Amino acid sequence: NKQVILKHYVKGFPKESDMGTRTTKTKLNLEGSSSGQVLVKNLYLSCDPYMRNRMSKTEGSYIDSFTPDSPIGGYGVGKVLDSTHPDFQKGDLIWGFTGWEEYSIVSPAQFSHFKIEHTDVPLSYYTGILGMPGMTAYAGFFKVCSPKKGEKVFISAASGAVGQLVGQFAKSFGCYVVGSAGSKEKVDLLKSKLGFDDAFNYKEEQDLVAALKRYFPEGIDIYFENVGGKMLDAVLLNMNNHGRIAACGMISQYNREEPEGAQNLFCVVTKRIRMEGFLVFDYYDQYPEFLEMILPLIREGKITYIEDIVEGLENAPSALIGLFLGRNVGKQVVAITSV
Ligand code: NDP
Repeated sequence: NKQVILKHYVKGFPKESDMGTRTTKTKLNLEGSSSGQVLVKNLYLSCDPYMRNRMSKTEGSYIDSFTPDSPIGGYGVGKVLDSTHPDFQKGDLIWGFTGWEEYSIVSPAQFSHFKIEHTDVPLSYYTGILGMPGMTAYAGFFKVCSPKKGEKVFISAASGAVGQLVGQFAKSFGCYVVGSAGSKEKVDLLKSKLGFDDAFNYKEEQDLVAALKRYFPEGIDIYFENVGGKMLDAVLLNMNNHGRIAACGMISQYNREEPEGAQNLFCVVTKRIRMEGFLVFDYYDQYPEFLEMILPLIREGKITYIEDIVEGLENAPSALIGLFLGRNVGKQVVAITSV
């Protein structure tokens, strides 16, 4: 069983050498394991920014740290090889938490696992648009942002897994949508392929407050927050009264030893902004309703979805680190081509 392990806890910016691969000779099986477990062959793994937090030793976090010298874990798509869980049978396809390895034993009772019922769409989509990031975009925009038609929406990390979907949801809802991203290629994608009204490269802006004023002369009603730090500070000054900020993530802070404090947080008070943090886990009960909405859009070609797929478990560490360098264009997936 080929595995990607975390060698040791990480401080600061993660390196490929913080992770390693190894092959174990033991063949996994469910004999002797507690009931309710499922043996899966992993097919696709998802690289997600929150995984960085699990690479450090943290206490009291919403999710446990990884264990050094053990396989990294994350979302993935797998095929059931054996099961002692009543809801999953041999041959089923599932998505949910799994290990960064060829074969894993997963515990649906402990984490949410979903049986894949629709296979006319690419299976890798269940790591993104039809999986956790898709649910994040859906819950974050429709449930947390309380959008109204015609409102002005700003999305950071807009070309990524979550951002590209939020932008398209907001456009189809009738909002004016601008996104920021870190390269010309990504900005072009936002404008030409993903249907954003406008987009800019935040790395080329000396003054983010002025840049946002240029794109939103009448102010921002909704900010879908993916990056935090300086961008959040600049957005706060450009928010309209009674605006809403869905605090989805703050990737610019994940590798910092000292977090960057927002200087302009008082705007939350003076502009009566509602800023709400959310975690996708709290919305998984709405997954069936989300699928009902999104599957027809995919089948009818009414939504665009960009994936960045690398092949081979050995390339997973570099793909994960690439998220923090902005190397991924769209949702970062690892396809496991195993024997
Ligand atoms: P992406 O696919 O957007 O990949 C991450 C992107 O973030 C990179 O491509 C890069 O794009 C950008 N980025 C990296 N470092 C920085 C930085 N220092 N400053 C600004 N941008 C940076 O990731 P996801 O769509 O999967 O995740 C987006 C956000 O949503 C993250 O903050 C994540 O933690 C959060 N999230 C939250 C969930 C929840 O339940 N609340 C669930 C899922 C995700 P660029 O080239 O544009 O800089």
